[in-house]
Amino acid sequence: MNYERDNIARLVAYTPGEQPGQQGRVVKLNTNENPYPPAPSVLDAIRGVGAQALRRYPPPTAVRVREAVAQQHKLTPQQVIVTNGADELLRLAVTVFCQPQGCNRSGIAGGMGVTNPTYSLYPVLAGIQDTPIVSVPLDEDFALPENFADQLNEAGCRLALVVNPHAPSGRLEPLDRLERLAQQFRGVVLIDEAYVDFAASDALALLDPARKLDNVLLLRTLSKGYSLAGLRVGYALGHTRLIEALDKARDSYNTDILSQTAAVAALASRDEAAKTWRAVIDERARLASELTARGYRVYPSESNFLLVVPPRQAKQVYESLKADGVLVRYFEQDRLANKLRITVGTPDENNMLLAALDKT
Ligand SMILES: *Cc1c(COP(=O)(O)O)cnc(C)c1O
Repeated sequence: MNYERDNIARLVAYTPGEQPGQQGRVVKLNTNENPYPPAPSVLDAIRGVGAQALRRYPPPTAVRVREAVAQQHKLTPQQVIVTNGADELLRLAVTVFCQPQGCNRSGIAGGMGVTNPTYSLYPVLAGIQDTPIVSVPLDEDFALPENFADQLNEAGCRLALVVNPHAPSGRLEPLDRLERLAQQFRGVVLIDEAYVDFAASDALALLDPARKLDNVLLLRTLSKGYSLAGLRVGYALGHTRLIEALDKARDSYNTDILSQTAAVAALASRDEAAKTWRAVIDERARLASELTARGYRVYPSESNFLLVVPPRQAKQVYESLKADGVLVRYFEQDRLANKLRITVGTPDENNMLLAALDKT
């Protein structure tokens, strides 16, 4: 007997990148974490949380985090929602903007539009929500196809999810391309900027009232740039009306007091995090040229990872690296099956990767 809803019974759950145990020396270049630690002030802030703060419920709308975020981006706190990791924000966006399959007779309209490839969590969220998903193949070099908005409009999508810089390719779409998408698409455009801290530019300008776009949400996370994947803090920026809608559907206390306190400290020490971004960007260039010299095709990346085509079978390279204690990401998926996604590590970690590649 199946007790669960039909769509949950059918669902293939998300597969996170491997998280090896503490023991053993593993070079972990598979989940795009920042290789450098968070700023010391973040740890101090967490240590400073006392018994009273733990006894009480946390501020329900994470008001101090929203104020800090708003100040950083020159927006108002009403344009910010804070979530339990940006993954929660994605799930909320699907709940709030997409229709469940059963709600329309044709069963096609009301869903989400994504690119192929994209962040592999998106289709899982569509499955959980039981909303239709339209997947549009990216162009040759992972560029957003010109007719992306048209295809989504035709299918009646309510939400477009675009990762920028793109994962897993690292490609950055220019602002005018994203603006055109927001102008053409009849639903909400969520630009997933999880990796924006490593990029040359962001899409914040789309929120400028002068552009008259009321359908743009930007996703941000402290997991990557701020070295706080373990903390689980993400947020969205957007038009007050979109933020209000998201706010209605979240858990009342979706972020805890430790997360809120640490997030405020992290945002205040942005300059220190930015030093790690520059180090990663420098290493990205070095790793790209080292890999190119070894016969790898390396896609241009504005992120903290590189998508590469090895000169021999990607799966074999993945497996022999793993046997040597170096974890990278392999996706057994049509266009990605001949590629590896490698997180940029510290210079030492990258050297260990290169040494392992030279050995095999
Ligand atoms: C890491 C990531 C996120 C969000 O991560 P959280 O840890 O949940 O904040 C969102 N989108 C993409 C593409 C990511 O890689």
